[in-house]
Parts: sequence; structure tokens; C-alpha cells
Amino acid sequence: MSAGQGISSKPRPRIGPDSRPFWDHCRKHQLALPYCVECGRPHLPAGPVCPFCFCDRLQWRVASGKGVVSTWVVIHKAWFPAFAADIPYNVVQIELAEGPRLTAKMVGLNGRSIVVGEPVVVDFEDADDELTLPVFRPA
Ligand code: ZN
Repeated sequence: MSAGQGISSKPRPRIGPDSRPFWDHCRKHQLALPYCVECGRPHLPAGPVCPFCFCDRLQWRVASGKGVVSTWVVIHKAWFPAFAADIPYNVVQIELAEGPRLTAKMVGLNGRSIVVGEPVVVDFEDADDELTLPVFRPA
């Protein structure tokens, strides 16, 4: 192998956009969505390119957090033992008013089951000092 070859000459993996704005907004109890600068459509997750027009520039904007349940499932296992005390828990996929879908935990059901199509609104759970998770509750 000659000098200059090796790891620096390999093609770099394509890194997706930084999702830090999403989590920074969650800390402030706001839902932020990535909008495509080119076509203006919102999309989650924030992939390396817009799935509609392949533009690679995003702009984060605060969203209403309102939506309706499109699917749901009850999870009886935890990937991480730290979350074992919280199971079973409801995971819903929300069709947001702004367009994209977001998967999150559903809270505030008071023992009743989830209904597809029911209106929900985002809320926030401070998991620890650094992480705030979006959750949804009945609107
Ligand atoms: Zn686009």
C-alpha cells in the first residue's frame, strides 16, 4: 500500500442530518419538524435527503403537535432493562396535522384502549436531566 492510501481514501459514509434540533426543541417542550428547503414538505425521520425531491437541505420549524392515531400497538417487552418497569406500554403512530408520521408513546388513556383516528396532542416527558421524549395524549 502506498502512502496516501488507506482509510482517508475510502468513500465516507453518508451521514444524515443532525437530529439535535429535534431534541433541543423537545427540551423546551416544543415539537420541531424538518422541512425541505426546496419543496417545503415536512418529513420525519430527518433522512439525508428529502424523500419527495432529494434536496439535502432542511429547515426546522415548530409544529402544532396535533394529529390523529393511524396505528397503535401495545409493547410487552423493553429493549433496555431500565425501561422494564414501564411495560406494557402503548406505542402509537401519529399522522401529524403538519404531514409526517411520528411514532411515540401514548399516555393519559386511563385504562381505555386507543381508537384509530382519535385526535391527539403532543406532550413531553422529561426522561432525565438531558433527555425529553415526545409522548401523545388524547386531545
Ligand atoms: Zn423536498
